[in-house]
Amino acid sequence: MTSIKLQGIRKHYGKTVAVDGIDLTIDTGELFFLLGPSGCGKTTLLRMIAGFIEPTDGRIRFDDRDVTTLPPNKRNTGMVFQSYALWPHMTVEQNVAFGLSVRKVAGEERKRRGLDALRAVQMDPYASRKPNELSGGQQQRVALARALVIKPTVLLLDEPLSNLDAKLRLEMRIEIKRICKQTRITSVYVTHDQKEALSMADRVALLRNGKVVQVGPPRELYDRPASRFVADFLGETNFIHAVVAGANNGSVRLDTPAGQLESAAGLSESPTGGNVTCSVRPESLQVVDRTSGPNIMTGTRVETIYLGEMAQHIVEVADGSRLKVFELNPSHFGDPGDTLHLSVEPEDVVILAD
Ligand code: ADP
Repeated sequence: MTSIKLQGIRKHYGKTVAVDGIDLTIDTGELFFLLGPSGCGKTTLLRMIAGFIEPTDGRIRFDDRDVTTLPPNKRNTGMVFQSYALWPHMTVEQNVAFGLSVRKVAGEERKRRGLDALRAVQMDPYASRKPNELSGGQQQRVALARALVIKPTVLLLDEPLSNLDAKLRLEMRIEIKRICKQTRITSVYVTHDQKEALSMADRVALLRNGKVVQVGPPRELYDRPASRFVADFLGETNFIHAVVAGANNGSVRLDTPAGQLESAAGLSESPTGGNVTCSVRPESLQVVDRTSGPNIMTGTRVETIYLGEMAQHIVEVADGSRLKVFELNPSHFGDPGDTLHLSVEPEDVVILAD
């Protein structure tokens, strides 16, 4: 059981700054996600934790042990890659046991631990198969068993599900989460897929241009994005320009082109005046019959797209900007040009810091 501490981590490649001063503590047993768009520095950071890349600046600690300059084989990390990287000429069992042979673990124990690891990923019935006799999902389970068998101090996963089809990816999300929680290994998982992070993580660090822009549990990032970038990267949202009309006890009154709104999104420092942008998720807007009252916005239906379990309404408001509304189990159908009234809870109107 190990915590990981990253202190002032930087990595430069000539003039390119891949990682730009990251401070993070990943707790013991945590399933921690590094999330962000391509090129934000997440793989570089993971490889520095693994020891494949040395940081230009900063320290990496596993508990109190400074591992910054330690080679990968001295850190006892288990790695799982996007390409499963299994040896094609070896059986599943041999692939998994290989790391134990390198560590000079004796025959009987090697076999027992190999089978234990295969059992943990539910692949023990396939022990004598070769990798090319397995599906992509099964190969990734074997890769996971191979990483776990050495009883790693930390488990590092680099986009492990990217090569799987959509259905398998969903299954494997549940499976990897189960395994990480069961083994209680501190795990760092890199992905650009926000759904993967939201559905699996204990905490997520969202990266942009080599920096952490927000860190917290999935719901905190989704419900309380600090910036436009976070709100936009995680799911879909509407940005609404507003002028602050007043503030009282953590609740802020806003004038918007679609009507007056109250925001009670629990900001530590509420603005007391000026222009702001707020984020309102499409699923927190509801089409209602009320024409006025608190937190009712009014606009004109541009179109309604029927998607089976939900409908997507596009509504134009007074300044010409458009709001997206998701209606589950939809019933508000009609024609373009209809007037629609939308209601939103004050808790779902988030004023963004930038
Ligand atoms: P991500 O994993 O988020 O897609 P990376 O960590 O791979 O991002 O890369 C971060 C930035 O560093 C990118 O701009 C990338 O081009 C650059 N980079 C990564 N590795 C190297 C390298 N070996 N040499 C030069 N630039 C690199």
